[in-house]
Amino acid sequence: MEGVSFSLDDLPLRDDLRGLAPYGAPQARVPVALNVNENTHPIPDDVARDIVESVARAVLEVNRYPDREFTPLRDALAGYLGHGLTRDNIWAANGSNEVIQQLLQAFGGPGRSVLGFPPTYSMHSIIAAGTGSRWIEGVRDAGFAISPETAVAEIRRHAPDIVFFCGPNNPTGTPLELETIAAAYDATDGIVFVDEAYAEFMPTGQPTALTLLEGRPRLVVSRTMSKAFAFAGARVGYLAAHPAVADAMRLVRLPYHLSSLTQAAAVAALQHADEMLAMVDDIKEQRDRIMRVLTELGYEPWPTWSNFVLFGGVDDPGDVFRRLLEKGVIVRDLGIPGHLRVSAGTEAETTTFLDALRDIRLSS
Ligand SMILES: *Cc1c(COP(=O)(O)O)cnc(C)c1O
Repeated sequence: MEGVSFSLDDLPLRDDLRGLAPYGAPQARVPVALNVNENTHPIPDDVARDIVESVARAVLEVNRYPDREFTPLRDALAGYLGHGLTRDNIWAANGSNEVIQQLLQAFGGPGRSVLGFPPTYSMHSIIAAGTGSRWIEGVRDAGFAISPETAVAEIRRHAPDIVFFCGPNNPTGTPLELETIAAAYDATDGIVFVDEAYAEFMPTGQPTALTLLEGRPRLVVSRTMSKAFAFAGARVGYLAAHPAVADAMRLVRLPYHLSSLTQAAAVAALQHADEMLAMVDDIKEQRDRIMRVLTELGYEPWPTWSNFVLFGGVDDPGDVFRRLLEKGVIVRDLGIPGHLRVSAGTEAETTTFLDALRDIRLSS
């Protein structure tokens, strides 16, 4: 093939994929990485050992296909979520991104539409595009909120097949009112999906969309082990819904999509849920500290119920991003004018970020 000039453009690619660039945050090796909302605390040693032992046992049977129904994992996830959920309410996949893809394979696709509310998680529209579903951009209220009235008006205007919410919302951190979800549900015959990737960072005791599942068989709530649970590299996301929704997922999932190693690792990690989540309070403290210091420095952070802060008042986000990077700190420039987003790290990482930003602020 050498010497032959041939590129993606020359392939008989689907027309709707032509000209697209692959999505992904830069994966630079930077001492302080606060750009993709990971839990930056390493997992505790004893939990790591338990996971390795569990995976080691699974390896001895890796000649066989895994449990296609990942039953122990669904039991563990239902136990973790509580709210009277059982394994029948749970579906899991390789990250909640794959859960969303399966959801749109089952309920979206060509001829069907998804209403979302940007600025929101970029993967929602990208997965819509990948599955041939039409993405419709709903309009938020001031301050990125979505009132019940706004949600209902947008649903009436666009008559989507699926409504996507993200609460707390990425990249803004904005809380999502349960009243909004309930009103949206009543305004559509379609699927209402709530991405709760950051639920564990909400104020303690705050009810989540899980409390709305009872009696709402078209409501789907997704969670992930990638954020609070410090398990991003293992790729485990899941949803809770009426058992019929899990049956719909079975129609589109590839058989054995969750490897036996993934299942073993996730089940072992969930047995240590308390330890895995021990850092959440610490992360919330660092988040609140970021809010305080950014305000002191004259930036405009948005209220957040997640593990990150979106802040405005940045004259040249690209320039600040580069100068932070020179100081060994990577944050996220999402292309929102005047804004950057930063994840709350460990206390030391957060200090490095805040000191670097203070230097930049004072020198400009
Ligand atoms: C990070 C994130 C996810 C996580 O996706 P995984 O595939 O589970 O790693 C899902 N939804 C939102 C809104 C996120 O920010």
